[in-house]
Amino acid sequence: CGIVGYIGHRRADPILVEGLLRLEYRGYDSAGLAVAERGKLKVTKTAGRVHELRDLVGDGSPATAGVAHTRWATHGKPTDVNAHPHLDSGKHVAVVHNGIVENAEQLRAELTDGGVDLVSETDSEALAHLISQAIDNGAESLEAAVRSVLHRVEGTYGLLVVDVRHPDQLVVARNGSPIVLGVGDGEMYVASDLAALVRHTQRVVHLDDGELATVRADDYRTSTLQARRTDKTATVVDVAD
Ligand code: GLU
Repeated sequence: CGIVGYIGHRRADPILVEGLLRLEYRGYDSAGLAVAERGKLKVTKTAGRVHELRDLVGDGSPATAGVAHTRWATHGKPTDVNAHPHLDSGKHVAVVHNGIVENAEQLRAELTDGGVDLVSETDSEALAHLISQAIDNGAESLEAAVRSVLHRVEGTYGLLVVDVRHPDQLVVARNGSPIVLGVGDGEMYVASDLAALVRHTQRVVHLDDGELATVRADDYRTSTLQARRTDKTATVVDVAD
C-alpha cells in the first residue's frame, strides 16, 4: 500500500516513520521498517498503527539507509509476521512491496522445494529470497539481481530493496504501482506517493512501468527491465507541504 525509503546522511528511522505517517490517509493494516546498521538489518514491524511502530522503534538506530511500508493485505492475514519488510533466510535482503505477485504460489513452491523456509503467508516474501539467491549466484549488482527476479514475476509491483552486502544503495522498481524518487542534497528519498517526500524535496523523478532505479545518497540511475538506461532527469513539483 505505502512505500517509503531513505538513503543519505541523516538517521533513517525518524524519516521513514514520518513518511509513513503521511501515507496513513490511504489506509493500511500493518506497518514496518528495516534499516541497514553496520552490516545487519534491523527490522521492526507490527500489525498495528504507524504510531505503534514509532513506539517500537523507540530511539532507533544510527543507520542512514532503510525501507518502510504500510501494508494492505492481499495474501495472508494482517499479522506481525506478514507485515513488510520481508527478508531472505540469511537476513541480508529486505523488501517492501506494493501490489500482487500473481505467480506467487509457483514461486513459493519452488523456494520450498529448494529447502527455503518461508515464514510468512505473503506473495511478497518470495521476492526477498529470490533476490538474495540471485546475488549468491553471482549477479553483478543488486540491480542485476532484482532485474533477473522481476523477469520471473507476473503481477504488479512497487518494489523497494535494501541489501546489507550493498549498503550504499537501494534498488527500486515499478510495474503498475507508483514509485517516485525524491532528490535531496546528498540524500535520496523513495516513495509510493509524493505526499511522503515533498516535505524534504521538490525535485522528483517518476518511474514508469517496467523501470528500475539504483539509488545512492548522491545519485540515481534509471533503466528498463531490459537493462537499457533511461537517464531520467528530475522535475520540480510545486506542492504545498
Ligand atoms: N500483496 C502484498 C501483501 O499482501 C502487498 C499488499 C500491499 O500492497 O500493501 O502483503
